[in-house]
Amino acid sequence: MQEKIVVVGSSNTDMVLKTSRFPFPGETILGGEFFIFQGGKGANQAVAAARLGGQVHFICKVGNDSFGQSAREHYLNEGIAIEGISQSAHLPTGIAVITVNAAGENSIIVASGANAQLDVEDLVNQEQILRDSSWIITQLESPLPVVSYLASYAHQQSKRLILNPAPAQTLPPEIYKDLFLITPNESETKQLTGVEVVDEASAKVACAVLKNYGVKHVIITLGSKGAFLSCNEFEGLIPAPLVTAVDTTAAGDIFNGALVVGLSENMDWPSAVVFACRAAALSVTRMGAQTSAPTREEISDTI
Ligand code: ADP
Repeated sequence: MQEKIVVVGSSNTDMVLKTSRFPFPGETILGGEFFIFQGGKGANQAVAAARLGGQVHFICKVGNDSFGQSAREHYLNEGIAIEGISQSAHLPTGIAVITVNAAGENSIIVASGANAQLDVEDLVNQEQILRDSSWIITQLESPLPVVSYLASYAHQQSKRLILNPAPAQTLPPEIYKDLFLITPNESETKQLTGVEVVDEASAKVACAVLKNYGVKHVIITLGSKGAFLSCNEFEGLIPAPLVTAVDTTAAGDIFNGALVVGLSENMDWPSAVVFACRAAALSVTRMGAQTSAPTREEISDTI
């Protein structure tokens, strides 16, 4: 039995330009290869979940422009339901301009555009989608009132809300008690709890702090080390498969997308985390964000 998932979050168009070096202020240089990708944490997680067979609705806001149209078509091609995508009357689709120099370093500027206008009214308009879903997953690239609304909605309607608190920012304390699960990485954990996670003992302390805030379950992602799970029936490290990483961009997004699919299929907690670790491990062996998200068959075939 598979339960429906709704992802609420950001949709960006990433424009990646390779260059020998970064220009100085006022300087113009000729760049190299140029790529356009779909990005944004919400979109990455929605695509990761859909590619693994999740039944996904995506609620986000794009601009009335060609980037917004391309994004819609892309999500449809990925098997994501797009009725929840609204259009800003004034702001363009969010973009990230990413330059990558010869050393592989990047410099990134994000213009949130329409993402910043996703608001409570959009969620109220999409109430049917929220009501039909058992799982809601969101991140912090959407305005905080949206996250607060989802928290109280999840509480009132007995929905399971997962917050991937990225990029980290201080949260209104009343949100925590309505979170079914929080999934910070190490730096986000430090910012939310003040605890530096260096080993299993410190991960346990950080989980205790988050549970003390009111969160029901905690998963701290630990890069190549795997993920620390703290739920009712299990507390401990789930190690990541050993792989050769070539690009860890969006590893956390692939992890979260896979995790919610596992949970929506009623996997037990450790199995869902193993599934998410496998998907994320496979993604870091390939370049890109959404381009690196694996299919179900790839996970069972290769890891
Ligand atoms: P974020 O991308 O949000 O910073 P992490 O770096 O913690 O998050 O990575 C998320 C998950 O991706 C980890 O819990 C792990 O399962 C997987 N992962 C990340 N890096 C690697 C790696 N080098 N090898 C295997 N798995 C990895």
